[in-house]
Amino acid sequence: MRRLRLGQDALEMRALAGPWVYPIALAIASAAVALAEALAPARPQQRQWRRHLASDFVYLVFNGHLLGLLLYALAMRWVLPPIDDALARHGVIDVVYRNVAAEWPLWVQIGVALVLLDFAQWLIHNLLHRVPWLWELHKTHHTVADGEMDWIVSFRFHWLELVVYRIGLYLPLAFFGFAPAAVLVHAVVGTVVGHLNHSNLALGRGAWRYIFNSPRMHIWHHDAAANGRTTVNFGIIFSTWDWLFGTALLPDHPPVRLGFSDDAAMPGDFFGQQAWPLSRLVAPHAWLGSALGAGLIVGAWLFGHHGSAPARTPMFGETAAQSQPAEDHYRYARTPDAATIALAHFGDDARAAGFAHPDELVSVRELAAALGSPSLCIIDVRANRGFDTGHIPSAQRMERDGYSVSSPIAGLSRRADELEAALRRRGVGSSSVLVLYGDGGPEPYRLFWTLRVVGGYHARVLDGGLDAWKRAGHGLAAGPPRAVAFGDVTLTPTGTPALLWAQIAPTARTGAVLLDARSDREFSGSVQHPEAARAGHIPGARNLEWLALLRGADDSRLKPVAELRVALAGAGVDGSAPVITYCQTGTRSSLAWFAMRQAGMPDDQVINYNGSWSEYSRLDQP
Ligand SMILES: [Zn+2]
Repeated sequence: MRRLRLGQDALEMRALAGPWVYPIALAIASAAVALAEALAPARPQQRQWRRHLASDFVYLVFNGHLLGLLLYALAMRWVLPPIDDALARHGVIDVVYRNVAAEWPLWVQIGVALVLLDFAQWLIHNLLHRVPWLWELHKTHHTVADGEMDWIVSFRFHWLELVVYRIGLYLPLAFFGFAPAAVLVHAVVGTVVGHLNHSNLALGRGAWRYIFNSPRMHIWHHDAAANGRTTVNFGIIFSTWDWLFGTALLPDHPPVRLGFSDDAAMPGDFFGQQAWPLSRLVAPHAWLGSALGAGLIVGAWLFGHHGSAPARTPMFGETAAQSQPAEDHYRYARTPDAATIALAHFGDDARAAGFAHPDELVSVRELAAALGSPSLCIIDVRANRGFDTGHIPSAQRMERDGYSVSSPIAGLSRRADELEAALRRRGVGSSSVLVLYGDGGPEPYRLFWTLRVVGGYHARVLDGGLDAWKRAGHGLAAGPPRAVAFGDVTLTPTGTPALLWAQIAPTARTGAVLLDARSDREFSGSVQHPEAARAGHIPGARNLEWLALLRGADDSRLKPVAELRVALAGAGVDGSAPVITYCQTGTRSSLAWFAMRQAGMPDDQVINYNGSWSEYSRLDQP
């Protein structure tokens, strides 16, 4: 199974196939078949420079390239995203696609796509003849008259007919998850065989005629005496379907006349036919066809070449947030498997930057590539309740009371079993990779530290948080967190004492550096935190506000290692003595603890005082 992302899939399919591969293949196939016709025509009396040739050339360029661009742009902007969102609102997220084909080797996918799509086309072609309003569209193709049957008419199709075809073919492709290469091979083979079917070449004898369609066979599809809706030989690539279902006919001679019974009433060229059958209802003015035809060509050119939609962040069934940042072209994983592979690159950026524990960090780039992996769990720990208006897609929410208690001392860590239950409720499993993020504040570091020190659990922090995610142009999801199944993660209580002053004091008395991560006004006592019992700081402490460890007000990533060391040395932290860091409730100091370890201080030399000023200010201490 894979997640529902019709629009995203269409985008990636196009990006992988390359927009110019098909037009180049079309040009080569056209030149080759035209040359064969010139050298060995089946009907030597038929002229190559004939009536409606210019019109058919416009068809070739328009239907072979421009219309595809137009339909693609329309689908990406106005059709597929609303379908994705509507299905997601009804909870249809993971069950729509059976991604069976994606697991087969490419050559198997190509073979199955050829047969499956050709059968779908055979069915659609039958409908085009048997459903009255579809026949009105398909008539355009059957305007091919005597003396006009050559390779280039294989692209004489009404634009609305192509809409019907594309929808009929795209849905099975999306459903079964075929690789873009398999789709491309089907398109190219279909084009070559389509050219040959209409060509002025003497093909279609021998046993092959029961497998492949041929000009000898297809010309009977255009028999005027069959009168359109009762005709035969609906095959595109394979003739087998017609032989199997009794719609095949292959006499030795060609039909007497090509066309259909009332073909004289049809407009004769590209521009007139674009307006058909609308032109039958409105006055049959020539300008209507010209205007519509010219409008389609110009629209396709403008839309297709200048208006292709950028990549949308996958939303996983959640609603996109109202205020989407402008997105650039990002590579999101195409399948959950690809996303899971991207998990292996978590920490690469931190490793390259020289951080001592790259396995505790993840960059925005790395996280985006892994979005959609079933193994990825993201928890939003922002304190400011902004979750519903915009969060990283698929994230769960945990506020401070999820991992801290409010009494007897506000802010103390919860027990391991409580933390385990909180993670399980948010879908964290035993093999999950857990990423924590905030809005640039210290909350994710507090939860990281809590999980590690209390439960021996290894999470990761998104460097720079949600601000960095948005600044990089990634989308946000809106609304409450999506429902997830319970996870089965297990925490291992470490038995670490509560880290109250009673446990901290002995270390503090043996020459450890006391590092206060609060603001200088809280440190000096000119401001008293509302949750503190008194103002001031622990005697002997040094002040290094947590913000000094981040890059700046608009970039809350950790400072580079060298700059961290300079900032820390300025506060007397140079690695020669253990450090005890604290703040009001151990949150801002968690960031300091994290930064000191990332700058290279050994784990056993850095202690975060859990009770912090919240406890200390209530003690009978100097
Ligand atoms: Zn037909």
